[in-house]
Amino acid sequence: MALTLYKKKRSFKDTPEPVGGKASGAVLRFVVQKHDATRLHYDFRLEMEGVLKSWAVPKGPSLNPEDKRLAMMVEDHPYDYRTFEGTIPKGNYGAGTVMVWDQGEVTGADASDREGSEEELRRGLEKGRLSFKLHGEKLRGEFALVKVNGRGENAWLLM
Ligand code: MN
Repeated sequence: MALTLYKKKRSFKDTPEPVGGKASGAVLRFVVQKHDATRLHYDFRLEMEGVLKSWAVPKGPSLNPEDKRLAMMVEDHPYDYRTFEGTIPKGNYGAGTVMVWDQGEVTGADASDREGSEEELRRGLEKGRLSFKLHGEKLRGEFALVKVNGRGENAWLLM
């Protein structure tokens, strides 16, 4: 299961973070969480295959089409993380405060239904180039995540 690494990094008797969760179905979701950890960053998460594929974006997403923001891919998070807000206590992985910064529906750049969008996202992930539309409060419009060659295997750019 995709959450092995997520669970391995955390001790659930010490952190209020969610352990699991099931996708609700009707639409695909994204969330951006502002995470005031050792270094402030934004976590960008896209629902795919029942979990949240996740990237840590040090500078956060931008609405300026000319900006490219470094996004480091991190371990899959459980679906229930989508609504998580709270404080991860000191001494735990990711200690600090988590706030939902934006959330909403995500669709593929081409497909608009759930199945088509998910298939498009899954192919994009394999190719290292994901295009999608965000229907959030702050983030609206077309975005892309593109894998960067030569900067380690987890480096992507969010644009
Ligand atoms: Mn984080």
